[in-house]
Amino acid sequence: MTNIVLLCTAEQQQKIRQYYEKAIIERKAPGVVFAIKLADTAITAYKSGKIMFQGAGAEREAARWGKADSSAAKTTTTKGDKLPELFSTLSVIGSDETGTGDYFGPVTVAAVYVPADKIKLVQQLGVKDSKQLTDDYMRKIAPDLMKACPHSILTLRNDKYNEIQARGYSQGKIKALLHNQALKHVLTKISPEKPQYILIDQFAERGIYYNHIKNEKEIVRENVLFSTKAENLHVAVAAASIIARYAFLKEMDRLGKIAGFALQKGASAKVDEMAAKIWLKFGEDTLRSMTKWHFANTEKARKLLQKRKR
Ligand code: MN
Repeated sequence: MTNIVLLCTAEQQQKIRQYYEKAIIERKAPGVVFAIKLADTAITAYKSGKIMFQGAGAEREAARWGKADSSAAKTTTTKGDKLPELFSTLSVIGSDETGTGDYFGPVTVAAVYVPADKIKLVQQLGVKDSKQLTDDYMRKIAPDLMKACPHSILTLRNDKYNEIQARGYSQGKIKALLHNQALKHVLTKISPEKPQYILIDQFAERGIYYNHIKNEKEIVRENVLFSTKAENLHVAVAAASIIARYAFLKEMDRLGKIAGFALQKGASAKVDEMAAKIWLKFGEDTLRSMTKWHFANTEKARKLLQKRKR
């Protein structure tokens, strides 16, 4: 689905309203000035001056007005389910994971419930587009988010990760199992209240996701939607992404204390160097207990170690 947001003056908004006069529909939602429904595009104008174009025809329609203020134009193309209109204003549980690409440290998954009446609060707590957030910033705001919102955090430590990975679990399956568990926890916490939707930041297509968890006792299916870049579609996913990151950083801190220095994120050559250092100092078992052992970094570190021993 394509989402385009333009920032317009009140005058420009009026022009747009007139142009689509016949397609205006009633929409009583906070902050909405008017809404338009075309065959393939939904257009929503907000008091803030933003106009959002959603759907297959979004690009075509936005192009008519793109000059309104092209500097503010923001286009995001997401893959996944078509979301209900005004999705960002609904009560949603979002879930996201982190750590899957890092040699050191755990995989963490968080699910967070943000009901409609807390969306503003969550935004005020500093939830922005998570790609713009630094680790330090996330460390700062995550505890407030955790206090404000029902949530679940799962930290899959490396020893457990390595054990199930060796049993043949793919990363996709591991993630799917963790997401399902985290969602279950949050649903239980907020019961009998229910979210209007659950949005999973998509890492696998729906069919593949449910195939991964088909043997689970309880499978969360009701009103579950999948989308890539979901952190831009609802603050619940943005919050989940921040909390998952926070949990990841906490575990990295713990492992860093064991190593005696801060561990490098990612899976670069710097990581290989660091791994070789830990291997030499503490031995294979210790290194294994803080890494995703099946990553190519292990063999690279082994080679570095052999060179050093020679
Ligand atoms: Mn994600």
